[in-house]
Amino acid sequence: MAQPPAPTELAAILAREIPGLEILSDVASVQARSRDSWVRSLMKSRLEGPPSAAVVVRPGSAGEVAAVLAWADRTSTPVIPFGLGSGVCGAVLAQGREVVLDLGKMDRLLQVNGDTLTAVVEPGMRGSDFEAALAARGFTMGHWPQSIELSTVGGWCATRASGQFSTLYGNIEQMLLGCEVALANGRLLRLPSVPRAATGPDLKHLFVGSEGILGVFTELTFRIHPAPQRQLGRAFTMPTLRAGLEALRKIMRAGWTPAVTRLYDATEAGRNFTIIADGKPVLLLMSEGTEARVETEAAAIAAIVAGEGGIDRGDEPLRSWLDHRNNVPTFESLLEQGLVADTIEVAISWDRIGDLFETVCARGAKVQSVFAMSGHVSHCYTQGANIYFTFVGAQGDLDTAIRIYDEVWKTTIETTIELGGTIAHHHGIGRVRKPWLSREIGEGGVALLAALKRSFDPNGILNPGVLVDT
Ligand SMILES: Cc1cc2nc3c(=O)[nH]c(=O)nc-3n(C[C@H](O)[C@H](O)[C@H](O)COP(=O)(O)OP(=O)(O)OC[C@H]3O[C@@H](n4cnc5c(N)ncnc54)[C@H](O)[C@@H]3O)c2cc1C
Repeated sequence: MAQPPAPTELAAILAREIPGLEILSDVASVQARSRDSWVRSLMKSRLEGPPSAAVVVRPGSAGEVAAVLAWADRTSTPVIPFGLGSGVCGAVLAQGREVVLDLGKMDRLLQVNGDTLTAVVEPGMRGSDFEAALAARGFTMGHWPQSIELSTVGGWCATRASGQFSTLYGNIEQMLLGCEVALANGRLLRLPSVPRAATGPDLKHLFVGSEGILGVFTELTFRIHPAPQRQLGRAFTMPTLRAGLEALRKIMRAGWTPAVTRLYDATEAGRNFTIIADGKPVLLLMSEGTEARVETEAAAIAAIVAGEGGIDRGDEPLRSWLDHRNNVPTFESLLEQGLVADTIEVAISWDRIGDLFETVCARGAKVQSVFAMSGHVSHCYTQGANIYFTFVGAQGDLDTAIRIYDEVWKTTIETTIELGGTIAHHHGIGRVRKPWLSREIGEGGVALLAALKRSFDPNGILNPGVLVDT
């Protein structure tokens, strides 16, 4: 087999093939885009050195993305689409010879239409810039992931992301109305933006959550909303975790859709709401929208919570959460402190959520060196909700830390499968969950995904190693 060209040679070839394309080949720029924020690859890179792709390209248009892919397809060169690298599942992890396709230069808001309530945007726009630009025009998309300042709108679609206000606005798959995608052969596919269509399967959903293995988003049209007139919410302490879950279930069953529905177990409540928690779980609820809607909803859901024994603790804890909600310690800083920590989000139906919550926390806490295994619920549906588990352990050396890390992940995911939940609510599969994907969608599902991959990308150039093996 022919040796792949050296990085400098590759950069020269790309410059010749696609004149005007921005190419980065210095070590710092390439390494900064050669992995995402997966804790395990962070630990591995401390042990073995940082991973590195061959070069980075920064296309400025859909045409340039298409040209890079057409060239990569002809030459069987692997390509890793890259937003801002905030993914936490190892979906970006270079093995040495890839071209990283950094979409950060395609960061323009192309159109906002206040009549049709749509916004057209390039994939590399930073989430917080996008929401700020919408806010300046009197709109919101309502997608507020904790990583809004660290992630792109294209990355959101590629990972099937979910924001903190999802119970009102929905998840990214409900927000995406139409898109343009560059396929592995360099063709551009435009999928229209219409309110709804019955034109066979909705092809855009093949790309949502495909983590860069089936195509590259080059333009996105999202549903937007008029900016809310008002936000209104409270914090409550709940007698037990199960009482909090029951309150949330009844709120959803009654058809209310508060933007924020967050139930912290007693451990996390003590950590985040020290003054009010008093050893109890804490529930945050917030409605937003028009005056009339918000007033009615807030009163109705407060009554449901009171019926489950909730005690009203006022709006200050909610305000404080709104102000500080995205300030979390980085994984790097936790590693520096000698800790190993991560978060694992799953989802399950209401009839099993209490059992899953308690079983994972109990089993996770038994893993060697883990001193805290806790969770909160933050995305609610009529049928069930997510659980966002967090574990923290003492690191020992890095080899031990990786063993602890793997053991907690295995325990959490296998318990979720045992009790009938889904192994991923919103972070995706990447590499960390890949071993368990067949347990969720079956061998048949994985085979179908692999067949799709072969059909869309016969030369296997797009983000190889992620989601499925080909
Ligand atoms: C502190 C923190 C908080 C977080 N909070 C949330 C949260 O609240 N909700 C949530 O859903 N996630 C959250 N995440 C995870 C992460 O932010 C999301 O997965 C995000 O959607 C990734 O966006 P990105 O632009 O950084 O993509 P990257 O990490 O660069 O890439 C992610 C995947 O998408 C692919 N990709 C990127 N751009 C494109 C494109 N244009 N076309 C095709 N494929 C592409 C990549 O190849 C890769 O497979 C959090 C992460 C951190 C570190």
